[in-house]
Amino acid sequence: MKYDVIIIGAGPGGIFSAYELVKQNENLKIAIFEAGNPLEKRKCPIDGKKVKSCIGCPTCAIMSGFGGAGAFSDGKYNITNAFGGTLYEHIGRDRAIELMRYVDDINMSHGGEGTKMYSTAGTKFKKLCMQNKLNLLDASVRHLGTDINYIVLENLYAELKDKVDFKFRCEVERLEIVESGYRVHYTGGTDDCEKCVVSVGRSGSAWMQKVCEELAIPTSSNRVDLGVRVEIPAEIFSHLTDELYESKIVYRTEKFEDNVRTFCMNPYGIVVNENTKGIVTVNGHSYEDPGKQTENTNFALLVSKHFSEPFKDSNGYGESIARLSNMLGGGVIVQRFGDLIRGRRSNEKRIEEGLVRPTLAATPGDLSLVLPKRILDGIIEMIYALDKIAPGTANDDTLLYGVEVKFYNMEVEIDENLETVHKGLYVIGDGSGVTHSLSHASASGVHVARCIAGNQG
Ligand SMILES: Cc1cc2nc3c(=O)[nH]c(=O)nc-3n(C[C@H](O)[C@H](O)[C@H](O)COP(=O)(O)OP(=O)(O)OC[C@H]3O[C@@H](n4cnc5c(N)ncnc54)[C@H](O)[C@@H]3O)c2cc1C
Repeated sequence: MKYDVIIIGAGPGGIFSAYELVKQNENLKIAIFEAGNPLEKRKCPIDGKKVKSCIGCPTCAIMSGFGGAGAFSDGKYNITNAFGGTLYEHIGRDRAIELMRYVDDINMSHGGEGTKMYSTAGTKFKKLCMQNKLNLLDASVRHLGTDINYIVLENLYAELKDKVDFKFRCEVERLEIVESGYRVHYTGGTDDCEKCVVSVGRSGSAWMQKVCEELAIPTSSNRVDLGVRVEIPAEIFSHLTDELYESKIVYRTEKFEDNVRTFCMNPYGIVVNENTKGIVTVNGHSYEDPGKQTENTNFALLVSKHFSEPFKDSNGYGESIARLSNMLGGGVIVQRFGDLIRGRRSNEKRIEEGLVRPTLAATPGDLSLVLPKRILDGIIEMIYALDKIAPGTANDDTLLYGVEVKFYNMEVEIDENLETVHKGLYVIGDGSGVTHSLSHASASGVHVARCIAGNQG
C-alpha cells in the first residue's frame, strides 16, 4: 500500500498530526501504525488482588495503544514554554503557545468542555514562594482528569477512524529510505509513504535510537530526572491546588546549589506504579469525578542529572537506581518522612499508625539505601522549604515513594519543521527528546501536519 503520510505511534503527537492533516487536506491518504491496542482494549491486568504487580504484557496497556502514554494520565495540559519541553526552540515561543491553545480548543470541542483552566497569573503565591526561596513557574493548566481525558480520546478516535487507516498491534520494526519516500517494515508486512512522521514517545526510545543509528540521523544525549513521589493529606496543599491545581515550583538547594522541582501534582489523587520495560517506578494521577477522588494529594520532587563525558547514558544511570529500588523492595518503596530523617526504615506498623493513608500498596523500606545522598539531601531540603508555604509538608507521616524516574529520549536533530536530515522524515513528540508533555507533544503534531500540508499560517 502507498500512503501520502504514515504516522508511527498513536499517542498525542500522532493523533494531533492525523487530526490536523485531515483538516488541512482531506484527500491525503494517511495511516497510523501503533504497537499497542485500540483504546477500549487497553487494560492493565494489575487489579491489586489477583494480579498485584507487573506481569510484563507483550505491549504495556499503560504506555501503548491509542492515546499513547497519556491515555490514563491525569490529562493536565500545561500551556507554557517554562516546562514540558523545548518545542519553542524549534518553532518559536509565540507559535508554540498558539498551538498549545489550539490543541486546548480541540480538546474542549471533543468532550473537554466544562473542565477548568487554572493559571498562576496574578496569584498571591508567586510572592509567597519568592519569600521562601521558591520559584513558582508561570503556566496555565487545563485539567481534564483521567476520566474526561479518556472521553476526549474516544471522540477523537470516532472522528478519525473513517478518515485514517489505523493499524493496531502493529509494531514498526524498521524504516527504509526508498526512491519515492519511505518503506515502513512492521510485523508481517511493509507499506510505503511519501512522508513519514515518527511519534513513538518514551516507550519507543530504544527503537528511535536504532533508527537514528541506521539512517545516520544525528542525536545528542538528554537528561534523566530522579526523585520521589510525596503523598500528603490534601488539606495541606489545598490553598495552592484549589487555585492553581498544579504548581511547578523550583528550589535551589543551599548545600549543592542543585535545582529540585515539583512535578505532576495530583490533588485528591492516587499514587500508581509505572512500568518501563520491566522496571517499576512510581507516578500519580487523579480523577475529575469527585466520586473517584481520595483524601490525599501527591506530587513528585525531582532532580535532573545530565551526563556527557566520559559516561553519556543518563537514562542508564536512572535505570540502575530504579532497579536497585526494585531489588530491595520488589517494586516501589514507601517511607515516612520521619523515618527517613531518623535514619530508619519504615515498616508496615509505622505506616499503618501514620496519619496519611497510602493510596499505593508499596513496600515499606529505606530510600536512603537507594537514592544518591546528593539527590536525597536536595529532596529533604526542598520538603522543609515547601513546609514554609504549606505547613505540614514536612510532617513525620508524610509519605515518600521511590523511586520516581523521568526518562528522556536522546534529542534527535530536527529543524524548524521538525524534519530530520532526511527530507520527508519528521520526528515529533516525546520520541524526539524535544517534548516531555501532553500539550507540547500534541502541539508538535499540529505543527508537523501544517508543515507537510504547506500551510504554516
Ligand atoms: C502515568 C502517566 C501520567 C502522565 N501525566 C501527564 C500529565 O498529566 N500531563 C502531561 O503533560 N504529561 C503527562 N504524562 C506524559 C505524557 O503522557 C507524554 O508526554 C505524552 O503522552 C507524549 O506523547 P507522544 O505522542 O510523544 O508519545 P506517547 O504518548 O508515548 O505515544 C507513543 C506511541 O507510540 C507507540 N510506539 C512506540 N514505538 C512504536 C513502534 N516501533 N511501532 C509502532 N508504535 C510504536 C507507543 O505504543 C505509543 O502508543 C504522563 C505520562 C504517564 C506515563
